[in-house]
Amino acid sequence: MTEGIKMRAYLVTLKNWFFYDMIVSNEIRLNGGMKMSALPNCPKCNSEYTYEDGSMLVCPMCAHEWNPAAEAEAAEANVIRDANGNVLADGDTVTVIKDLKVKGSSSAIKQGTKVKGIRLVHDSTNGHDIDCKIDGFGAMSLKSEFVKKI
Ligand SMILES: [Zn+2]
Repeated sequence: MTEGIKMRAYLVTLKNWFFYDMIVSNEIRLNGGMKMSALPNCPKCNSEYTYEDGSMLVCPMCAHEWNPAAEAEAAEANVIRDANGNVLADGDTVTVIKDLKVKGSSSAIKQGTKVKGIRLVHDSTNGHDIDCKIDGFGAMSLKSEFVKKI
């Protein structure tokens, strides 16, 4: 009677790991685990044993739970883009794409005005998400939708 190759497979708590216990013969027995899907490592302890629990990711090593979709959304919400949808960064040089009236001044910032060394304001509450200095006007706050990265 041939015994053949027996294979037992089971899934344990770490859902995205597939653990196997293979009896090849009476002498050889293989144990191991395979990662079934590429999940990100734990952002807290960098463990690779993360697993999915609904829409959440869970780290069994430090018990950290997080929502990867919400984090991606938050990262995207933190991005400031110019009028063309290009991502802006601190220190960029932009041009103003339309004449902008300046409060308390009779003159306007003219379309095409070059603005060097912008500083992004991520927690702006009034839509003015760029701090900068403009010659002839001094320190200003601009809206990213009215500038173009150059
Ligand atoms: Zn962890």
